[in-house]
Amino acid sequence: MAALYKRVVLKLSGEALKGSAASGIDFSVLQFIAREVQQLLGLGVQVGLVIGGGNIWRGTNAEGTGLDRATADYMGMLATIMNGLALQSAFEQVGLEARAMSALRLDEVCEPYIRQRALEHLRRNRVVIFVGGTGLPYFTTDTVAALRAVEVGADIFLKGTNVDAVYSADPRTDRTAAPYRQIGYDQFLADHLKAMDATAVSLCRENHLPILLFNMNKPGNIVRAAMQGDIGTLIKEA
Ligand code: UDP
Repeated sequence: MAALYKRVVLKLSGEALKGSAASGIDFSVLQFIAREVQQLLGLGVQVGLVIGGGNIWRGTNAEGTGLDRATADYMGMLATIMNGLALQSAFEQVGLEARAMSALRLDEVCEPYIRQRALEHLRRNRVVIFVGGTGLPYFTTDTVAALRAVEVGADIFLKGTNVDAVYSADPRTDRTAAPYRQIGYDQFLADHLKAMDATAVSLCRENHLPILLFNMNKPGNIVRAAMQGDIGTLIKEA
């Protein structure tokens, strides 16, 4: 079966990396992701990946502590670099070529993000792991994924999460909450839905980039999202 997409940007939350632990990195989760991404490459899909930092640190943790928010956000961006390096190593262990490229310079550790170089890596079927956020505070890694996906001309933004779909309300607290199979950017933003960062959705809207939100914890789902697209919620033009 042919893939629906030639090039994707996959966003995984940092939270996913902690597995069942309270924080940090569960190495079996890294291996699980590496094997899923390996299958995707085997099917001829070029993969850019954005990893969050929430398993280690989020800028919002600073609220009420007296810690300066911008500094806390830089700490969050550094957390994404740690996660990205761990993923790079896991990809290499399964025989894939991978390059962590950072928006914050850390030359001894990873390449700086240079768009043309990232494109060349993707053309050579290397997994490009975009780390260090946008390099700017007050953003999230959802927005990084939208930005990089637009920059490298990805066909879709695959947002791997812990939930199965975008819901009309919070299913944990509202029994009337219903999952969407598809929703327009405008409705997503007008209804203030929380499944994704509004800045990211609005950047995708401006650039006509579809988003597929799906549960990444189920084995096979990352491949299924790119091959069949019959899971989760598709966010696109109505
Ligand atoms: N961050 C930032 N600018 C960016 C991307 C990320 O300041 O361009 C910081 C922000 O503090 C955020 C943290 O990095 O809380 C980790 O990213 P995120 O919360 O998106 O991770 P996830 O929730 O996906 O694990």
